[in-house]
Amino acid sequence: MARKIGSRYTAHQILGRGSAGTVWLGEGPEGPVAIKLLREDLASDQELVGRFVQERTALLGLDHPHVVGVRDLVVDGNDLALVMDLVRGTDLRTRLDRDRRLAPEAAVAIVADVADGLAAAHAAGVVHRDVKPENVLLDMQGPLGPGGAHPALLTDFGVAKLIDSPRRTRATKIIGTPDYLAPEIIEGLPPRAAVDIYALATVLYELLAGFTPFGGGHPGAVLRRHVTETVVPLPGIPEELWQLIVQCLAKAPASRLRASELGVRLREQLPVLAGMPPLDVDEPESEAEGAYDAASQPESEAAGVSSAQGESERERVRRGAVPLVRGAAPDSNRDTHTSMRVPAPDELAGGARGTARAPRASGAPRPGSARHRAMARRRRVTLGTAAVVLAAAIGVGTWVATSGDNADATPQDTKNSAPASP
Ligand code: ADP
Ligand code: MG
Repeated sequence: MARKIGSRYTAHQILGRGSAGTVWLGEGPEGPVAIKLLREDLASDQELVGRFVQERTALLGLDHPHVVGVRDLVVDGNDLALVMDLVRGTDLRTRLDRDRRLAPEAAVAIVADVADGLAAAHAAGVVHRDVKPENVLLDMQGPLGPGGAHPALLTDFGVAKLIDSPRRTRATKIIGTPDYLAPEIIEGLPPRAAVDIYALATVLYELLAGFTPFGGGHPGAVLRRHVTETVVPLPGIPEELWQLIVQCLAKAPASRLRASELGVRLREQLPVLAGMPPLDVDEPESEAEGAYDAASQPESEAAGVSSAQGESERERVRRGAVPLVRGAAPDSNRDTHTSMRVPAPDELAGGARGTARAPRASGAPRPGSARHRAMARRRRVTLGTAAVVLAAAIGVGTWVATSGDNADATPQDTKNSAPASP
C-alpha cells in the first residue's frame, strides 16, 4: 500500500523499524528514498516538531560518504518524516546476528568507515549519541572493501537529540542504549563527541567478540560496569588493535581518540589483520549478575508490547527485542531511547571497582545451542524497566535529584564542545 508523505513523497513498503519510528522505502521527485516516519506520539509533540525544524540545517548539512544523507524533513499534518538517501543493504545488527562474529579485518574496515563519518559530524558540531550496530547500514551495492566488507554508513543522526527534548529529559535522565553508554553520560554529564567514540569502540569489540564488553544481565548492572569496571583483553586479539579499543573505552572522555584519528589508526591495522579468522572467544556467563531475562518478564513488564503490528510478540521476545517505551510501537531493534534517572556517584560506587566479566577462550556454549540462545536472551534486555531495576541493582533507596541543565546540548553547546582531545 502506498502512502503519501507531504506533497513530494510516497512511501511504499516498510524497510525497518526503530525506536523513533518506521522506515519506509519510498519515492521522491529524484527517485527512490528511505523515509523515516516518526512515531505518532513524537510527531504530535509540538515542541519536538519545533526542534525538528530547528535542527533542519544541521541534519541536512551532513554530507559524507559514510553518513546516511538526510535530504528533506517533512512536517505534514500528523506526519513527521525524515527523507534519507536509500541504502540498499542491511544493518550491522542483522549482519552480526547472522555471523555472530566478524573477521577482524572486516570489523575494523566497517568501524573505520563509521569513525570517518563521525569525524565529519563532530567537525560540524553534531554528536550522534546513539552509535550501535542497528544504526550502521551496510551498502551492499557499494564496492567490497578490506575483508570483504561493504561500505558502512552511520544513520540516525540527530534523532537521539530530537527525542531528548527539554521536556522529556533533564540532566537527571539518561538517553541511550545501555550496552553502548559512555560512563560520563551515566554520571550525568552532557554528551560530547567522545561519547560516540566510546560507543563505537564498544561496537568494534562486539563485532570481534560477539558480545559487548559491559553488557549482560541486569540493565542496572550494565550501567554500573561502564562506570566501575575495566575491559578484559579478548584472547587472540592483536595487541595494537586491542590498545586502540582500550584507549577509546577509557572512562575519561578526554583520554579517548578523536574520530578522525581513530579512523586513521584503524586503517593502519588493516594489513596486519588481512586473512585473520574471527576470534575464537565465548561470551562469559552473566548469571552471577543475577539473571534478568526480558523474555521471562510478564507481558506487562515487557513494555507495552502491541502484538498487532509487525512480527509476533513471541518472536520478538524470543529474540529479546522489546519496545523500550511503554506503549511504543514494537521495535525490531535493540533498545534505544528511554529515560531513567542518573544515579549519584556514591550509588555508582556501590559495586567494587573491578574488571569486566572475563571473556572465555572458546568452549561452551556453542552458537545456536539452547544455552547460547538463553544467554543471548538474557543479554538483550531493555531499559524499559530500567528506571526501576537500576535502583535494585545498585542497591539504593534514594535518588539524588541532580539539578542542572538539560542533558541535551543545544546546537550552540555542541559547537562549543570540541571533540575530546586525546
Ligand atoms: P530508529 O531511529 O527508529 O532507530 P533507524 O534509522 O535505525 O530507526 O532505522 C531502522 C531500520 O530501518 C534500520 O535498522 C534499517 O534496517 C532501516 N533503514 C533505516 N534507514 C535506512 C536507509 N536510509 N536506507 C535503507 N534502510 C534504512
Ligand atoms: Mg536506529
